[in-house]
Amino acid sequence: MKKIAAHWQILIALGLAVFLGVIFRNFSASYSPDSSFVAFASKAVGVSSFIGDLFMSALKMIIVPLIVSSIIAGIGALGGVKGFGRLGLKTIGFYALTSLSAILVGLAVVNMFEPGLVNGQPNEEIRAAFDRSADQASVQQVAKVANANKVEATDYWDFFKKLFPSNIIKAASDNGQMLGLIVFSILFGVAMTRLPSRDISTLQGAIQGINDVMILITQWIMMLAPIGVFALMFPVVYESGWRIFIEMGSYFGTVLTALAIHMFITLPLILKFLGGLNPLSHFKAMQTALLTAFSTASSSATLPLTMRCVQENAGVSSRTSSFTLPLGATVNMDGTALYECVAVIFVAQVMGVDLAFGAQFVIVVAALLTSIGVAGVPSASLVAILLILKNSNIDGAETAVVALLSVDRLLDMSRTAVNVFGDSCAAVVVGASEGEKVLQGDLHLFEDDIETEEEHLLHKD
Ligand code: ASP
Repeated sequence: MKKIAAHWQILIALGLAVFLGVIFRNFSASYSPDSSFVAFASKAVGVSSFIGDLFMSALKMIIVPLIVSSIIAGIGALGGVKGFGRLGLKTIGFYALTSLSAILVGLAVVNMFEPGLVNGQPNEEIRAAFDRSADQASVQQVAKVANANKVEATDYWDFFKKLFPSNIIKAASDNGQMLGLIVFSILFGVAMTRLPSRDISTLQGAIQGINDVMILITQWIMMLAPIGVFALMFPVVYESGWRIFIEMGSYFGTVLTALAIHMFITLPLILKFLGGLNPLSHFKAMQTALLTAFSTASSSATLPLTMRCVQENAGVSSRTSSFTLPLGATVNMDGTALYECVAVIFVAQVMGVDLAFGAQFVIVVAALLTSIGVAGVPSASLVAILLILKNSNIDGAETAVVALLSVDRLLDMSRTAVNVFGDSCAAVVVGASEGEKVLQGDLHLFEDDIETEEEHLLHKD
């Protein structure tokens, strides 16, 4: 019997989690809080969160060795500084272009829909929802997110301090510090190409070996993805109340519309006209990574799967993808940049602040810069939003961000999928420009067959 492909398994798990989450939630609401059903439901949610956390940790576990080994091995394959420089320039150019276009889409949509206004006046209902969330949740919640991302929302430059970590071991042990790890790995890789090969060939072989091992472990973790996705989604659906979603419906609609325009119109156009590639094939190749990004709301945790999809399904060489993707997961966040811009302007509308062209321009630049420094972990962009709000002198920044945080999950999942898709587009376009056979012929769809993967690693030269 043919096995169900991994992306279908994940999709089924997602659907089941939403279905059961809604059923459990509705039943719990109709029973008294001390009934045995409510006790059972909260136990089930607890167990599910536990399994979800295990899955996230398993993904995060391989990030550091995977990033370090793939960047160093990749630079070796690029044949030194010259090849690396060309690839670096193309990649960074692509990232700047797509992030900026994402922000401009966000800017246009938020100015058109004006989700924070009703008949040109600040929306009082949303303002009340802001105040209510502040009472319940308190500003400390935002501090907690800021802390988790190792960013103090005080200064734009804080984001760039992470470029050179003073302690590389500490940076490696800290999820928010990937940028420093990437810079270190690039330096290491370039330095290695400068030394005589007889001195470093053993080291090179060892690093390539670590990379192969990480690829295989990723494949194993992949098999657990449907369970992990279910376990992550079920508690989210169970715990989400609808009221705030309805009150903030215009805001949700605006963000989701803008994200959809970027993901389904702008990026496909770029794929087609800049890369000469078929966008549909690319969506197909990336299904598993996109669903995982959506479920985990973390582009860093998704990185191992993004790399596998781009290499195995889209056919990009590891030489190209091992540089573009780790860098992209950290510095290129189209969905996040777009979201920051929409969120800041939305809060300004609710607070009755009229932003002139100049102020909106500053927000665009700030969204572009901060999206580079935002970590690829859940709700990370809220800190950047707080920073931009404060620097734009918009009152009630903390209160607003607490309210946004309380409804963040669905939007976070969506923008993370866009972030991951943006990175993968860079990898295929840059790969194609390097003369690689990208998105051609039958897709391998690696997840169907783990043995093929093991064979592949065994027999590669
Ligand atoms: N969760 C997003 C990511 O991991 C970051 C954010 O926008 O909060 O890509």
